[in-house]
Amino acid sequence: MALEVVRLVLGPLENNTYLVADMESKTAVVVDPSFGSQAAVEVAAARGWELQQIWLTHAHFDHLAGVAEVEAAYQGRLPVGLHPADLPLWEKRGGASQFGFNFEAGPRPNLIFTHGQHLPLGHETLEVRHVPGHTPGHVAFHHPSGVMLVGDLIFQSSVGRTDLPGGSFQTLLASIHTQVLSLPDTTRLLPGHGPETTVGLERSGNPFLNG
Ligand SMILES: [Zn+2]
Ligand SMILES: [Zn+2]
Repeated sequence: MALEVVRLVLGPLENNTYLVADMESKTAVVVDPSFGSQAAVEVAAARGWELQQIWLTHAHFDHLAGVAEVEAAYQGRLPVGLHPADLPLWEKRGGASQFGFNFEAGPRPNLIFTHGQHLPLGHETLEVRHVPGHTPGHVAFHHPSGVMLVGDLIFQSSVGRTDLPGGSFQTLLASIHTQVLSLPDTTRLLPGHGPETTVGLERSGNPFLNG
């Protein structure tokens, strides 16, 4: 269970871009590279980690604006993972123009996530969990040591917005109940924005789940 996670806060929407590494093999992935993800490449290099893949929790622009920067540092060799239900959103650049943002699009996602899929990372394995609601193809990445990267599904004392195209509050709540609250209270939740939390803290204190 030698997983290490580094959080970088990047871009105008203060996205959490995560480096997730297997300490034994020194292989790593970058999750949701936002604007300015050259910083993630540099942190990985400083630690002697070899980036292997780019994983996207969903296709909103602020979670993928840095894909091209990371790819540039690796000669475009890194597979980009996304759930197919978010490909239509990816085609629209994750809604960037709606918010007045523009950026170089990275390569089309070519690692297709499915619910229950096991993603090897060196000697470790993370599991893909399909958690729609914020977007139709939103996924979380769960590691059996008790950590889950949850993107914009759930935040400390809040949940992902569901007023954007493809969003559904009922679907979001169902995803949280089946895929988050079913985990042990000690499970760390690493969201796409803001500080980390735990299943237990959100189970008892999240106003959106206790209305
Ligand atoms: Zn989002
Ligand atoms: Zn976001």
